[in-house]
Amino acid sequence: MSHLTRERAQTKFWFERATASILGGVNSPSRSFKSVGGGTPIVMQKGNGSRFIDVDGQEYIDYLAAYGPSILGHAHPVVMDAIRKATQDGILYGTPCPAEVEFAETLRQAIPDLERLRFVNSGTEAVMTTIRVARAVTGRNKIVKFAGCYHGHSDAMLVAAGSGPSSIGVPDSAGVTANTAAEIITVPFNDLSSLEKALACHGMEVAAVLVEPIVGNFGIVAPESENYLQKVIDISHQHGALVIFDEVITGFRFHYGSAAQLYGVHADLYALGKIIGGGLPIGAYGGKLDIMNQVAPLGPAYQAGTMAGNPLSMKAGLACLSVLKTPGIYERMEDLAKRLTQGILELAHHYHETITINRVGGAFTIFFGSQPVRQYADAEATDGVKFAQFFHELIQRGIFIAPSKYEAWFVSAVHTETDIEETLQAVDESFHAMQNT
Ligand code: PMP
Repeated sequence: MSHLTRERAQTKFWFERATASILGGVNSPSRSFKSVGGGTPIVMQKGNGSRFIDVDGQEYIDYLAAYGPSILGHAHPVVMDAIRKATQDGILYGTPCPAEVEFAETLRQAIPDLERLRFVNSGTEAVMTTIRVARAVTGRNKIVKFAGCYHGHSDAMLVAAGSGPSSIGVPDSAGVTANTAAEIITVPFNDLSSLEKALACHGMEVAAVLVEPIVGNFGIVAPESENYLQKVIDISHQHGALVIFDEVITGFRFHYGSAAQLYGVHADLYALGKIIGGGLPIGAYGGKLDIMNQVAPLGPAYQAGTMAGNPLSMKAGLACLSVLKTPGIYERMEDLAKRLTQGILELAHHYHETITINRVGGAFTIFFGSQPVRQYADAEATDGVKFAQFFHELIQRGIFIAPSKYEAWFVSAVHTETDIEETLQAVDESFHAMQNT
């Protein structure tokens, strides 16, 4: 793989044009290079398999996976065929359609806890609605979430922790009211006693405890004990709070189903998104029948959507999940990710770079630091400057990862042995270059 300092003339041209009409030049802030010290975000032209090509014709091995959905890489033939066929029948009816029924059945079969479900258009909507439903069912207002976990950009979810083991939130975004933030209690992940304290203090007011069963948003962080999630569920239920699992990243990421199934636990409500859309916009939420029965038109909690259950997203999702049923597909992703992380650790050792890798299945995060990362404060304490250097070195060498120390590398079903070898070569050169800066 070539590794030159590139001019990126076309990327600069398009990004300059973008900033004149798209706010900040990006349609989602995480796409900017702000948290890696700046620079022009690479403007992509097209993707194929495990790679994409920017507007200057430079190829990259893609570990961003569009922040999760592209588990089958780019332009997967089964998904593309399904979309092509689907467009022949028109793409939006605003009425029920067979594809949404088939897709709902497919999800229910994979995740039986989804006794009833609804399709929406994004992970944000899915989580936002589970919160509304939990409040409707319990008649309570407060939500407990875990520090550093991102659950979309609905007002209530844009709340960060104050200091202390459990704290009432303060708004993390202008435009979110103090009243909204006051309803969110934040506790550290992997810390049952903080959760217990929070619920002992506010339990009677807590509608739900919302958790990513395997964290994906301050890096990949797994529950540190086998029974952690069951304990979260038990403590929440003891206080009359529902448990919502945000599986927007984890759903169908590690096996054909939910992360809850990996731990043998059952949440009351689930939010899904990303992978289940096969690359098209989607979200879904669902759970226990008696809870979901509270949603309109059957119940008093309202949720709706013009694009919800549109046949195109349904058929892309069905196609994607049909491929993910292939025997061995998840094992292969895990094997490749294992080889890659093993190789990166060996190279880090060779170049005296202190790193910690958290990996679950085919997803992992490389933290620059020596301490284990088990909650947000640990991830915060890792070296962002080193990460930024590493990021820019990799990008120069055609390896595309997310521009943030808090994100994951996703190995997809279409990455190859060659991809892994080329990536290790680029990591070798990147660590080498970092020695000399
Ligand atoms: N929940 C989690 C765990 C997520 O990672 C994300 C997106 N990164 C969301 C919710 C929001 O999903 P979307 O961007 O589709 O609105």
